[in-house]
Amino acid sequence: MALFDSHLHIARLPKPLEVARELHERGYRYRAVACEPWEWKAVQELWEKASAEGWQEGCGFAFGIHPMIAADIASKHQDDSSEDCWSELRSLLKKFPDAQVGEAGLDKRYAGYEPGGAQEAVFRRQAKMAFELGRDLQIHCVGDYGRIVQILKEVGFSCTAGVKRPRPIFHRFGGDAGIVKAGKPLGALFSIHSDSLRKKATREALGLIPQASLLFETDADETFCESCGLSTATPQACTPRQIADALVDRLNQVQNSF
Ligand SMILES: [Zn+2]
Repeated sequence: MALFDSHLHIARLPKPLEVARELHERGYRYRAVACEPWEWKAVQELWEKASAEGWQEGCGFAFGIHPMIAADIASKHQDDSSEDCWSELRSLLKKFPDAQVGEAGLDKRYAGYEPGGAQEAVFRRQAKMAFELGRDLQIHCVGDYGRIVQILKEVGFSCTAGVKRPRPIFHRFGGDAGIVKAGKPLGALFSIHSDSLRKKATREALGLIPQASLLFETDADETFCESCGLSTATPQACTPRQIADALVDRLNQVQNSF
């Protein structure tokens, strides 16, 4: 089976350009997700260098604002730097017409999670932007999937047979059967991570997802080397070759569990 990692924080890995080369050589394609302004810049720089070598063939991006920084972005509202951030995001999306929006969403571990709070405002604004620009939306949710579904409906996400529309992508899916059912009329895709297989309610819901709506991902970031046992000292100590091999293993494990 072809390897496509639908959610990879490649710019957060050590030596990302060398990792891009190693992944290309292994036929491993991916969506490079950038969820805060420094990462947008890092992914763009990486893309420019890697595409000069042809290492980004078959890959894509997503640019967005993660709920972990939503409260911070919202609190800058008074001094205009928040608006700068939004206009930078919009111009990035215009510059890259195939880029998705995200990751965006809700996470109960971070500030601004409460109903009507900063996370919700920042998510809604990105959902509107994705809908308006016709882009798929990478959604991060730790907590209230129901609230996410409600906002997607309010923004206008829907699905009509034969019509291409922006789709919600439930990244690192951890919802239950009810969310799979609620996602279908919105045209949702479900991206499966090894964590998705841990929770019983999620495991049981996976069988309800049609094959065409399934994606697979590693969500690998700066914690990847340690989580794979590649490096006990510092992430910088593991080589791009080791990282690429470990990513192939991790993604294969998730795909093969279906
Ligand atoms: Zn992520």
